[in-house]
Amino acid sequence: MVSDADQAAAMSQMPPATIAQALQHAREAGLDRLDAQLIACAVLDRSRTWLLAHDTDALAEPDARRIAALVARRAAGEPLAYLLGDQAFFGLNLRVTPDVLIPRPDTETLVNWALALLPADRPCRVADLGTGSGAIALAIASQRPLAEVTAVDLSEGALAVARGNAAALGLDRVRFLAGSWLTPLAGQRFDLIVSNPPYIAEGDPHLPALRFEPTSALTAGADGLSDLREIVARAGGHIHGNGHLLLEHGYNQADEVGQLLRAAGFTDVSTRFDLGPQPRCTGGRWPG
Ligand code: GLN
Repeated sequence: MVSDADQAAAMSQMPPATIAQALQHAREAGLDRLDAQLIACAVLDRSRTWLLAHDTDALAEPDARRIAALVARRAAGEPLAYLLGDQAFFGLNLRVTPDVLIPRPDTETLVNWALALLPADRPCRVADLGTGSGAIALAIASQRPLAEVTAVDLSEGALAVARGNAAALGLDRVRFLAGSWLTPLAGQRFDLIVSNPPYIAEGDPHLPALRFEPTSALTAGADGLSDLREIVARAGGHIHGNGHLLLEHGYNQADEVGQLLRAAGFTDVSTRFDLGPQPRCTGGRWPG
């Protein structure tokens, strides 16, 4: 005879029968409502509107199993963007893989500042250092069709993702170069250099929460400033007179980044806040 306990155990192995049950199971596993819905939408290839109108529909068993597997990975902390393979940034849909940092809304602060400095009606030259998924470079290129945008990354894996994003968005005019920070830009000058480099201190207590993302995109030395220092020290040699360098940094690094910029010869140094609001970007003008 099958006991109630056996039956309950057997049931828990069985995938949920309806969409509503799958969503309920995801909530019980600790997911928030939106993540649960977005996983189901991705597996079923349906919109959220459709999903909400069909929650009593039966799930095909392969779909139920696929949803359950993604729910388990999300519950273990894997970012939704990696599970679904994409992330929205500045109105663009970007493919992301574990080779790249997941673009953050905070970084739109940097893009907005860059766009305020770039002319819409004539050509200009922009470089994005440590482009990752290509988020910043592609957002700028999409908003400034006359800009000549160069994006640099040390990681070949990241460059493959960024090039794929450029092609998918029809932004093939963005040029991608492999190398460390300004090294591949020898002999070249730009009107604007932007970067969201790694800026978290090694040993920072927030790092375990970011463990699925590439460490090389997150940490920079004992104080988190080693890459920012290198970029600031060398960028002036690559910026036209009256051009700008804009840098994203940690919420508590604005003063130090401002000091680095002034010490390197930049003027008009100022800081912009993200939606937090935290001081998130600091930049200056290269007097030439
Ligand atoms: N802003 C990201 C975070 O703290 C880190 C991005 C970076 O290091 N450039 O989650």
